[in-house]
Amino acid sequence: MVQFCPECSGLLRKKFESREFYLVCKCGYHESGGTRVDQAIDQESIRKKTETLESNFIVVSEEDKIALHPQVKKTCPKCEYKKADSWQVQIRSSDEPSTHFFRCLKCKHTWREG
Ligand SMILES: [Zn+2]
Ligand SMILES: [Zn+2]
Repeated sequence: MVQFCPECSGLLRKKFESREFYLVCKCGYHESGGTRVDQAIDQESIRKKTETLESNFIVVSEEDKIALHPQVKKTCPKCEYKKADSWQVQIRSSDEPSTHFFRCLKCKHTWREG
């Protein structure tokens, strides 16, 4: 829904502040838009969850994230099962090779190479 400023007919932008949002204009006009709708809160919490997952790459308890990793033939050093999830993480600067992580599909042991 697009709304226009009653002062200058400029486009009003939504500005979120905690659980409320405002309609603000570059001319300085603003009005309360009421409480945030649930959908906006949901989207923000999903976004935050995603950011958390991406910044904590060694969080192996996140089954939904791990499930997206390709499975490779790799022997687990702990139980010798021959399939593991794999993913790569760039730990230092981009000109250094990334580190490979593996997670055994059987015993959930996680290890790194490289
Ligand atoms: Zn205005
Ligand atoms: Zn294993």
